[in-house]
This record gives sequence, C-alpha cells and structure tokens, in this order.
Amino acid sequence: MLPSKIKIGVIGGGQLGKMLIEAGQPWNVNYTILETASAPAADIANQHIIGELSDAHKIKELASKCDVITYEIEHINIEALHELEAQGKKIIPSPKILEIIQDKGLQKLFFQHHGIPTTDFELVENASEWSDKLLKLTGEKIAAKLRKGGYDGKGVELVDKHIMLENSNQIPFNEPVVLEEFVKNAIELAVIVARNEKGEITTFPTVEMEFDAKANLVEFLISPANIKPDIEEKAKKIAMDAIIKLEGVGVFAVEMFLDENASIFVNEIAPRPHNSGHHTIEACYTSQYEQLNRILLGMPLGDTQLIQPAAMINLLGFDGVIGDYEITGLDKILALEGVFVHLYNKATTKPKRKMGHITIMGNTLEEVRKKAVIVKQNLGMKQL
Ligand code: ADP
Repeated sequence: MLPSKIKIGVIGGGQLGKMLIEAGQPWNVNYTILETASAPAADIANQHIIGELSDAHKIKELASKCDVITYEIEHINIEALHELEAQGKKIIPSPKILEIIQDKGLQKLFFQHHGIPTTDFELVENASEWSDKLLKLTGEKIAAKLRKGGYDGKGVELVDKHIMLENSNQIPFNEPVVLEEFVKNAIELAVIVARNEKGEITTFPTVEMEFDAKANLVEFLISPANIKPDIEEKAKKIAMDAIIKLEGVGVFAVEMFLDENASIFVNEIAPRPHNSGHHTIEACYTSQYEQLNRILLGMPLGDTQLIQPAAMINLLGFDGVIGDYEITGLDKILALEGVFVHLYNKATTKPKRKMGHITIMGNTLEEVRKKAVIVKQNLGMKQL
C-alpha cells in the first residue's frame, strides 16, 4: 500500500510530533494529531483533533480516524489505549510497555527481573518509609525520583543520605518514590533502538550528553560518544537486549550511565523518539523520526550510519524572557557550514522551555565543538 494511504494518529503535538510529521512528508503520509489548541505540530498535521491527552473519548475519536496510533509523550490516558488495543487497533509501542515506563518504580523492577543492569534501588510509598530504605542503599548521595509524572529532570532530587536521615523534614517528596544509588562521575550515554513488527532491530550510534546542572536538562550532545569501541558495543548490546526483553516495537531511547569502572547502568527508557536523537535528522542516513515512520508504515528499517560527527544544542527559553520572544543571532549561526536550525514554533517562551535545537556537523568532533561554541556565543533571545 502507498504510504500516503495509511493514516497515522499521533497523541501529542509537540516538537517530537512535528519532526515525525516532517520526516513523513516526502512520502505524503497522512497524520492526525490529538493536542490542545496550539502546538508545534498543529500547523503541519493534516488533521487536528483538539483535546486533552488524558481524554479517553478524544483518544478513541483519533483511533477511529486512523490505521495506526503512536504517541510522542508518556503522560497520556493508558486505559483508553489498552481498550483500543484489545479491540484490535494497532498501537505502537504497545500500551503494556507504556504502562511500565509511565512508572519509574515498575521500570526499575522490570530491569531487575530481567537482568538489565541498573543501579540498586528501593521503593517507598511516603516520607515515613525513607529512613529504613535509605539505610539499605550504599553511598552518600541518593537519587530520589517520583514514580509518576516527572519529566526533564522535574520530579528528580539528588539528596544527601545523612541529611535525610537526620532531618526528616528535608525529605523532598511525600509521594511514591524510587530511591536509587547515585553513579559518581557518570558519563551519560543514550542509544536509540528501533525494532519493527518482524523483530528486525537497529541502533543509532551512541550519543553522549553533557548537562546544564542548574536546569538538569541536556545542554550539549555529541555523537559519536567519546568512548572506546568495546564500550560502545556493550552499550548497544545492553540497549537492544532491554528492548527485546520488553518485546518493544517502535523507537526507544535507552538512557544509561557509564561509571569509572566501565560498568553500564540503564537509567530509563523513553518509548518514542528522543531529545538525544534530534541530530539524526541531518547526521544519519535515516533519522529516528523516519525510522519510526517506517515502523508505523510496515516498511523495512533504514540505515542508521552517522554521516559525520555531530553535536546538538537545545535552544532553551532564556532566563528573564517570558511570553512573546524573538530569537537573535540566527544570521551569524546560519552562515556557518554544516549547521542546521530547528525552531519548534511555540507561541510563547519561558525559562528553560525547549524552543528549538541546533545540529552542528563537521569532519571531526574537534571541529564540531569549535563551531558549537560559536553557535552558543551568538544564540540569543529577546523579550518582545
Ligand atoms: P528525567 O526522567 O526527568 O529525565 P532522570 O531519571 O533522567 O529524570 O534524572 C535526571 C538526571 O539526574 C539524569 O540525567 C542524571 O544527570 C541525574 N541522575 C538521575 N539518577 C541518577 C543516578 N542514579 N546517578 C547519577 N545521576 C543521576
């Protein structure tokens, strides 16, 4: 069947949805999005159902108009998806995977039960259970994560074990939380895995992330990662193994920590294209978005080779700029060779909001890094 005859429904209309649609445009794929009024993907979707992502009726309406459903965000109505799948609707990735991923506690238990390496952890229901469980974990620093609802570092607190034991009033959450051992001096890696209904599987070259400690958001991402080939192989093997054990069909980002002893721990899995794969649009033969389209359309997987080393910078809302905005410096940035600007078309900004991203390519990572510094120096945002 021609790709243009297959109707894809996307729950969520943010930047990931926008880039999924852009990747399908050469094949004239038809997309319907479900999203509240204005959103990055709204102007380019073929149809737009206006509604909340938690609204079961709207999800069912979307399903009635589409051949296959995917989602670009985890926080959506899972019951509606289970019901639709039971009725035979194709949902990629399957809701049973989303259900595990929506809950960081279930995710950790899944890793533990399936021998997927992950840091030791304890689950607590409320603050009164913290002290007993903290004593079972080693290390001074502990990562505390809300089991549900967190994103982009929100709902994650890195805490000092002794302070928590001595001053229970400093415990940051009274909700169900995962307490996990902290990986010291970790290098953060991500491997994007794509698996189709036939069980064919590919990985994209490993990416390495550098973080903005204040915002807890990825600031700078490079690919290939600055790691030895055997570590790269190990990271890819762990990532593929996790997706096979999940019986995952779709595109998944497997986030990992690499410690000083070359041990790898899976942090979490996203069941969708991911921030750490934006560079694949220009830097790989097939992007993570095209790969998901191929899976949704029942096409073979594409070649994921890196064409050139690349870096990706998130364009985040600047501190002090709220509401109407203008992005400045693009004239200088666009004059650079091998630099690609993506703007998400968000009507308003706020500090640290993801407003766009810039991919920088070059012959070597050194050249890429130099250009990335020039991009950062020129990039600005003005209040209107
Ligand atoms: P989110 O799902 O909001 O992205 P993460 O679980 O990825 O949250 O945590 C956010 C960041 O906190 C990570 O990218 C990492 O920098 C840090 N972090 C989280 N858990 C650990 C850990 N166990 N050891 C070291 N750093 C961690």
